[in-house]
Amino acid sequence: MRILDNISSLYIDFDAFFANVEKQLNPDTWHYPVGVTPFPSEHSSLIAQCYVAKAYGLHRGMKVSEAKVICPDLRVITARHNVYVEIHHKIIAAIEKHISVKKVWSVDEMECDFGARDDESCLSLTRKIKAQIAEDIGPHITPSIGLSSCNLLAKIAAEMKKPNGFEVLHPRDLPGKLLEVPLRDIPGIATNMELRLNRAGIQTMEDFWNISAKQARAIWRSVEGERIWWMIHGYPVEKIPPKRSMFGHSRQLSGEWTTPKRAEDCLRLLTAQAARRMRKEGFLATKLNISLRTLDENRISKEVRFSPARDDYTLLRKMRMAFWACLDMAQSDRLRFARPGTLRVRQVHITLHGLTTKGAFTDNLFSKTEDRKKQDNLSRLSDVIDQTNQKYQSNILTIGPQEQPPGDYAGGKIAFGRIPDAMAYAKRVQLNGKDKRRPKAS
Ligand SMILES: [Mg+2]
Repeated sequence: MRILDNISSLYIDFDAFFANVEKQLNPDTWHYPVGVTPFPSEHSSLIAQCYVAKAYGLHRGMKVSEAKVICPDLRVITARHNVYVEIHHKIIAAIEKHISVKKVWSVDEMECDFGARDDESCLSLTRKIKAQIAEDIGPHITPSIGLSSCNLLAKIAAEMKKPNGFEVLHPRDLPGKLLEVPLRDIPGIATNMELRLNRAGIQTMEDFWNISAKQARAIWRSVEGERIWWMIHGYPVEKIPPKRSMFGHSRQLSGEWTTPKRAEDCLRLLTAQAARRMRKEGFLATKLNISLRTLDENRISKEVRFSPARDDYTLLRKMRMAFWACLDMAQSDRLRFARPGTLRVRQVHITLHGLTTKGAFTDNLFSKTEDRKKQDNLSRLSDVIDQTNQKYQSNILTIGPQEQPPGDYAGGKIAFGRIPDAMAYAKRVQLNGKDKRRPKAS
């Protein structure tokens, strides 16, 4: 029996996650290919497809109309990111019955701490994890599991036997099976980097294996190349996390939500969410930027600056100022927008930046004591709102009305890059007693 020493990372990557979650939750789709789209429209494109659909040649970015020609049986479902986040948390709970999750990389990828084990206990652990997920959540939600000495190799190992796979890349067997992996499958090598590697005479994994760490650094023109080179050779190298520089959210709008009034409603929601995340991490903002993309593909943006602020009331007011300035710009630019009132917004984006922390700046000595008091009170009010909403997992308290655009979520669409917490999807409780999310008395 081989002892798997030097293995420290167990990487779990779920197969066709959005599509498989939908499949699990919709029994009438079990025997059909399933595709997921961001909007309920024939013009929408696939953002996920199950393995049956993949076998027909369907891929991410393919138009629904095109996909239905190739695959007439396709069941198309509109994405429900709130559901995917809920399932994500259930998955973490299921995995943690057997091993602790060290880091969540995305809504469908996580890494676990892994001590030295032998081949057999290792296999039985992965079997237990898979069985637990099937039992707690459902058999259609399958993970692929990879083991290696660092997270990059473990992630590559998880990719190697998809779907529902298991693979070990042991450092003492390297390069071995790793040489079969195309360069494009290394996380961190996208189209442009692959071209740069090709130009340097590196076409295959074997070519990459045989260059030096210094050469990799020169090709990348950054230390990141060297880091990837060391990890490919089996050495764990921690990435220095980038310093937080902004909190932002964006949202695509459609139908009646493209009017300026609705775009502003959506921005209220996104601003409150960005502000809540910013407070949670202990920052204050000094700049707010709004940018709008119009239906005719024009872009308008406006930045406002202010004294350090963290409360919803101030930030929503600043958002409004910036938004109206954008509308003024659009209406005064007669060349681009012939008639006032015809502006339609396709996408809204808000960022809070120029971040600072309490204690890192001095209050303006010339501001009046009452102003400072008011600012402190507003700040405390936002903390109370956050605590209350967090307690009831629902947006019971908001500054002004907040309405969800269709799709039932806001700012949480980038579920692959960051896991929105449950509050990102919490609804404002309807006080007519009909909303099921109404908090229970505690
Ligand atoms: Mg995945």
